Amino acid sequence: MARADGLLTHDTDPQDKKPQDECGVFGVWAPGEEVSKLVYFGLYALQHRGQESAGIAASNGDQIIVYREMGLVSQVFNESDLETLPGHLAVGHTRYSTTGSSTWENAQPTLGPTPFGTVALAHNGNLTNFGELQALADERHDIRAQLVRQTTQKTHRTRPYRDSSNDTSLVNELLSSGEGENLTEIALELFPKLEGAFSFVFMDEHTLYAARDRHGVRPLALGRLERGWVVASETAALDIVGASFVREVQPGELIAISEEGLRSYTFAEPEQARCVFEYVYLARPDSVLAGRTVHSARTEMGRVLAREHPVDADLVIATPESGTPAAVGYAEESGIPFGQGLMKNAYVGRTFIQPSQTLRQLGIRLKLNPVKDNIRGKRLVVVDDSIVRGNTQRALVRMLREAGAKEIHIRISSPPVKWPCFYGIDFATRAELIANGLSTDEICQSLGADSLGYISLDGMIEATRQDPSQLCTACFSGKYPIRIPDDPAAERTC
Ligand code: SF4
Repeated sequence: MARADGLLTHDTDPQDKKPQDECGVFGVWAPGEEVSKLVYFGLYALQHRGQESAGIAASNGDQIIVYREMGLVSQVFNESDLETLPGHLAVGHTRYSTTGSSTWENAQPTLGPTPFGTVALAHNGNLTNFGELQALADERHDIRAQLVRQTTQKTHRTRPYRDSSNDTSLVNELLSSGEGENLTEIALELFPKLEGAFSFVFMDEHTLYAARDRHGVRPLALGRLERGWVVASETAALDIVGASFVREVQPGELIAISEEGLRSYTFAEPEQARCVFEYVYLARPDSVLAGRTVHSARTEMGRVLAREHPVDADLVIATPESGTPAAVGYAEESGIPFGQGLMKNAYVGRTFIQPSQTLRQLGIRLKLNPVKDNIRGKRLVVVDDSIVRGNTQRALVRMLREAGAKEIHIRISSPPVKWPCFYGIDFATRAELIANGLSTDEICQSLGADSLGYISLDGMIEATRQDPSQLCTACFSGKYPIRIPDDPAAERTC
């Protein structure tokens, strides 16, 4: 399916999108380095977290310049664009957005004035008390307007522009109108009032800041360069720019980095509820979350899956690429050989050519092609990380049968997704989730497979090696660790 900017989406089947992370954030404080280039490569490493828009804000100590545009990092920036972003500190952002809010106005970093200069803000997550925060911003605006009227007798200026589909611009507005001696004080006063998931990377002209909500839902890592510091959504982005991992930004922590060094503040009591879906699908396999490499967790999920749902078969194949580590784990544990059954047309997501109606009807064939000699006459175990609507797996089963597969046994390395996410991941609506209302047998029938097995919730958690009480599993269990919005339809994304 073509997007508004003419690109094809990266999903195997655009009608059956994988859960989408809604942003990647990256920040650098490094005098003497070409910081905008470091951010550029950092964003490249985080491209999987958002492909709708990209932006970088850089400061030379006197002023902040922002450049943001719709598209992939490689499409938004060229060498000369980066040369217009000089300085010693910078923040960057890649954004995914739901249809309808994929506009330039929602691209980040957002920029706003403060009593002490300017703030540029990049956000990964989703705030769940948008209405309350909006009311707070309105109240502050009205108080200021009244003060201005009392002192100058002038008509107050109109309410500041606020984008209705973006909670980041609202946080920017609240930072602009907050009270304190400096941006650190304003942030420390504001952040305890924010509910939901947020990993912020932001800056004024002199200081780089990073903050993570008290549940630490979305990841945020701190790294060290020889001459500075880096913060990034994932450790893989630290590796790419040659930064060594120091530690995660702690839940409820605000970090400020400037010439005075690194200062850490706690703005809320931590109550960790790390997103388990980062391990299943969202994060890069080469990233490390809470000491556990994502690839190892996924391979282990495959092993657990093989123990929980064994089957007699000839070959284990993966739905590329995200199902591969779990398929390898399944093969290792079961003793069934792993092989390549599907080839991904890796670069189709980068084409500007809009498919004709005939091509569109090909669906997933535009992106996946069976390796027929490996499939013909075989009993296959097909491993995938998740099922959302089921359209992809249904088309896949049909394609594999046409290629001569004798039996098709689908194995999924996460439990059935039954509940929506309010903390920054874009799923289908609850009504669209195939596991909402259908039993596993009914789903199997609907997909046309010979058998279907999901990993258990306990098995998935065991593979992450995390304390279950410190994970969010809400989309599988329905147990939300943070109050969800009263009006879920009004939720706002990063
Ligand atoms: S609801 Fe699911 S996707 Fe959302 S934060 Fe929780 S585990 Fe992650």
